[in-house]
Amino acid sequence: MDGVGPLVVILFFFGLAGGVVGRIKGSSFFTWFLISFCVPFIGLLTAVLYRFDNQELRRQCPYCRRVVKLHDAVCMSCGTELEFPDAAIASEAAMSGRS
Ligand SMILES: [Zn+2]
Repeated sequence: MDGVGPLVVILFFFGLAGGVVGRIKGSSFFTWFLISFCVPFIGLLTAVLYRFDNQELRRQCPYCRRVVKLHDAVCMSCGTELEFPDAAIASEAAMSGRS
């Protein structure tokens, strides 16, 4: 039995860390818990580095008022070319995470 217990504990904490990171980034806790538990180092690293869509800064199209991603050069709705904005809108995750 010796040697197996500590490993499971370590894997559990990797899973926990990955799950928390995934949850913070607006994804599923359980999904990232499983990924980090099964492939500890790579799974956790992926959770940390993974760019979740709802974390990106946004801005509003000055013509049609549609909210688009900050890095979009052209409005997805009306096709207007967009200058880099003076002010960005906080990401969806930042807005919803503060309730
Ligand atoms: Zn537009």
